[in-house]
Amino acid sequence: MTTVTSTARTNFDGGRLFVDGRFRRATHVEPVIEAATGEPLGNGSSATESEIDDAVAAADAALAGWRATPAAERATILLRFADALAARSSTTNELCTRENGMPIRLSRGSNGAFPAALLRYYAGLIAESDEEEIRPAMIGHTIVRREPVGVVGAITPWNYPQALAAMKIAPALAAGCTMVLKAAPETAMDALIFGEAAEEVGLPPGVLNVVAGGPVAGAHLVQHPGVDKVAFTGSTAAGRVIAEMCGRLMRPVTLELGGKSAAIILDDADLDATIKGLRSASFVNNGQTCHLSSRILAPRSRYAEVVDAVAALADGLTVGDPLEKTTMVGPLVSARQRERVLNYIDIGKSEGGKVVAGGSVPTDQPRGWFVSPTVFADVDNSARIAQEEIFGPVVAVIPYDTDREAIDIANDSEFGLGGTVWSSDADRATDIARAVRTGTIGVNDYQLDMQAPFGGVKASGMGRELGPEGLAAYQTLKSIYRVGPA
Ligand code: NAD
Repeated sequence: MTTVTSTARTNFDGGRLFVDGRFRRATHVEPVIEAATGEPLGNGSSATESEIDDAVAAADAALAGWRATPAAERATILLRFADALAARSSTTNELCTRENGMPIRLSRGSNGAFPAALLRYYAGLIAESDEEEIRPAMIGHTIVRREPVGVVGAITPWNYPQALAAMKIAPALAAGCTMVLKAAPETAMDALIFGEAAEEVGLPPGVLNVVAGGPVAGAHLVQHPGVDKVAFTGSTAAGRVIAEMCGRLMRPVTLELGGKSAAIILDDADLDATIKGLRSASFVNNGQTCHLSSRILAPRSRYAEVVDAVAALADGLTVGDPLEKTTMVGPLVSARQRERVLNYIDIGKSEGGKVVAGGSVPTDQPRGWFVSPTVFADVDNSARIAQEEIFGPVVAVIPYDTDREAIDIANDSEFGLGGTVWSSDADRATDIARAVRTGTIGVNDYQLDMQAPFGGVKASGMGRELGPEGLAAYQTLKSIYRVGPA
């Protein structure tokens, strides 16, 4: 346990927007609250409709020049952009951790290192991929062109603010698109670091514009006539609203939404290794992770043993100041999020679930938005705490009898985003992984791979980010039919 002591406000200026290559004062400045203290950390902002209009106009004006810039030149600028972000990483890590409570060790990788790595990856990919391909046709031949889709409206949540923004910025800019990024109000400050880095490296004005704001600002961006594609990460509820808007507008949209993934522990699993892996797979980022294995499926023959081990894992996680490098679980992002999680704990109890670890606010954390890592046993998969995304450090252990039943339980969910299978036989586990209806799944671990597509099925979303598929999401195809030989 590490009690939070820091109270100083940051001197990072979050009351700005980055539009058309310049910073300007935001009209509506709002405080950003530090997750670990519940006190103001500094200023953020909430973009007005006219500020979003300006940002879209800047992205639109920049589009012709950026898409005409040779891919190799775009790649060179993105590499410089990556270096400028990497140079700011210690500021970024700390700022994000103070905004949303992410343990600093995770923040270093996710907020500090990942965006630069992703920019480098997409810079490499665009530099080596051909814009045009010639295919022989019945009569003549066809030039198949990959063209940038245009101006992108990107909307991100607060849980992995830098990584999720980079998953949109890097492929979109590599493809030759321009962008307006709207960050969540809870993490309005760190998003401006993308603007600072862009300004330093001379990214052409308007190629990337950064604003912050809530659902009203987001809805204005989604429906803006100047936007050609929407890239959204957030809740399934907001994703449905955005999908309807985009459907009406015939606007392409990528939706990265919620999850309720299953960790399937097979009867031959090495329990010590499994529990070590579940520390991250089921509790990473204080449980505020979309692909979390928050339903733990245990074979009935080993159910008591698994419940005891998962409870011991939760009890053993170091809860405290997210800026301390030994902290494993920090606070939730906001008072509202803590209310939501505590409410789900009450629902779990009223449904007959048995709390075997945690279950309340830790008494040694009088400030901030902490919830103790919580484990429910004796949960049926039909319970609300097994079906609905809680988005906090709360897991349910569910018994099963056969491998087939484990797969059926894993698939008995509105969602399909992540998941894990744990076994001493990797091939057996991989066969189970093949049978789970999900966009991503790990065998004996869960590690995102930036070169492989990431995304969900069912209510977890549509489309993919990362890998070459993440680049294709920002490209549109054009066929030019030509008579005669190529
Ligand atoms: P949220 O949907 O409330 O907000 C996400 C973003 O969308 C914010 O920027 C918000 O201002 C904006 N927004 C909300 N309603 C909108 C609307 N109607 N129109 C336009 N913009 C709108 O989600 P949250 O609580 O901030 O984030 C947590 C959710 O995000 C969880 O459900 C989590 O699973 C999901 N998530 C998914 C992924 C993924 O890759 N699949 C990754 C991280 C988080």
